Amino acid sequence: MSAQLIDGKEIAKLEKKATKKRVQALVARGVTPGLATVLVGDDPASHVYVSSKRKTCARLGIESFTEDLPADTAQQILLDRIAALNANEGIHGILVQLPLPDHIDEQTVLEAVSPAKDVDGFHPENVGLLTMGRTRVAPCTSIGIMRLLERSGYELKGKNAVIVGRSNIVGKPTAILLMGQHATITICHSRTRDLPGVIRRADLVVAAMGKPEFIKGDWIAEGAAVIDVGINRVGEKLVGDVEFEAARERAGWITPVPGGVGPMTIAMLMENTVGLAEKASAGGPP
Ligand code: NDP
Repeated sequence: MSAQLIDGKEIAKLEKKATKKRVQALVARGVTPGLATVLVGDDPASHVYVSSKRKTCARLGIESFTEDLPADTAQQILLDRIAALNANEGIHGILVQLPLPDHIDEQTVLEAVSPAKDVDGFHPENVGLLTMGRTRVAPCTSIGIMRLLERSGYELKGKNAVIVGRSNIVGKPTAILLMGQHATITICHSRTRDLPGVIRRADLVVAAMGKPEFIKGDWIAEGAAVIDVGINRVGEKLVGDVEFEAARERAGWITPVPGGVGPMTIAMLMENTVGLAEKASAGGPP
């Protein structure tokens, strides 16, 4: 058996097309959605991600506000910049590119972003709302995963979903969204006993560990769906957390790396920006 490939690039294109229509509707009402991207320091991967986000904004008609600060920026200066972005009515979403330099406390910075402009869904208020099933804005990678499954016609109800990784950015919010669609959730991490055994019982595996091809093809149950979030550079190549070639022989569905979850994360960032702009322009509570 060879798995059906879940083409994140193609699905992201469809999502961006739909978002562009929503941008045009907002512009017709006199509102241009605005996304501020805050980048501190010179991490090369962060530069690549941020520049690709800014380019996508331009393609969809979203206005980009760029805030590029040197690596030695004092935390207070960064907090002041974020306060200014919070106060700017032309900005509907604020993204702080992670990781931040070591001298800056990430959580303090994420909490400084207005919850109504928290396009990544990392503010504790938004995490709380998500957990209660009253989502205002959810983390982009997790919504991207849900959209890939939905567009592939994968039915989640009653399925046994195993998530490898418990980060606030990917693992935990993905677990909450999958649970909301009635999957039964197991979250694994570095202290999990018998990871291969847990994965062998999964109908759906979401791999978000950041370890190149750690999950072996023969751990995947016949016909299971595999969503590989991992992005690992090995020499010149990018690989996921799953041993792709062996896993695709057993899986029913699988995402490639690159071209799976990655393009969806950016597409969902655009969608979240527009969603926040719609809420802001409608007035009332965010
Ligand atoms: P983190 O480093 O924050 O979390 C990694 C998780 O994997 C941790 O919970 C860790 O466990 C777990 N883990 C590590 N080793 C093992 C192991 N041997 N067995 C079981 N679990 C293990 O990473 P992120 O969540 O931020 O990112 C994960 C991956 O996803 C990275 O490759 C990242 O680049 C990629 N990514 C991709 C995105 C995309 O758009 N495609 C977006 C965001 C991330 P513990 O908690 O015990 O340490």
